[in-house]
Amino acid sequence: MSNFKVNLHKIKAFAFDVDGVFTDGLVIATETGDLLRSHNAKDGYAVRVAITQKYPVAIITGGSSESIVKRFVQIGVSTSDIYLRSHYKMPDFTDFCTRHNLQPEEVLFMGDDIPDIGILKACGIATCPADAVTEVKEICDYISIYPGGRGCARDVIEQTLKIQGNWADSPEAYSG
Ligand SMILES: [Mg+2]
Repeated sequence: MSNFKVNLHKIKAFAFDVDGVFTDGLVIATETGDLLRSHNAKDGYAVRVAITQKYPVAIITGGSSESIVKRFVQIGVSTSDIYLRSHYKMPDFTDFCTRHNLQPEEVLFMGDDIPDIGILKACGIATCPADAVTEVKEICDYISIYPGGRGCARDVIEQTLKIQGNWADSPEAYSG
């Protein structure tokens, strides 16, 4: 874990899965076919601060709901950095790195399940929620003490920005 703290210095961007990371993994299926997800305002605040401090943030999810786009645009993520229907996630991760002129080693990624393993192996720092599947936990550099939907994204963003001196009160950031 001490290496994890040291390695946080090299991080210039973040990428996240959605289900099981920003949410507890549960989806509510409505009669219209929409899927409803609960998000955590503490995570939302941290994403907003990261973007305000010029860290690119990618959302790479197998989900397809437009509500995912609306949620992350609301907290400052660019639509071009939100990848829906991403079942083979590596090409989208590579696209994100290329567009932002990032090396994969400069990106911290958090995912919780098998589809995330490719990026977890390629990124600079592999992280997961406390309740990620075993196969993911085994290859991560850091396992948050928080489960999905309970502040695990906030945890890794806050640690990174604090160690880089960028976790300042930000008037542009807001709770959401
Ligand atoms: Mg997931």
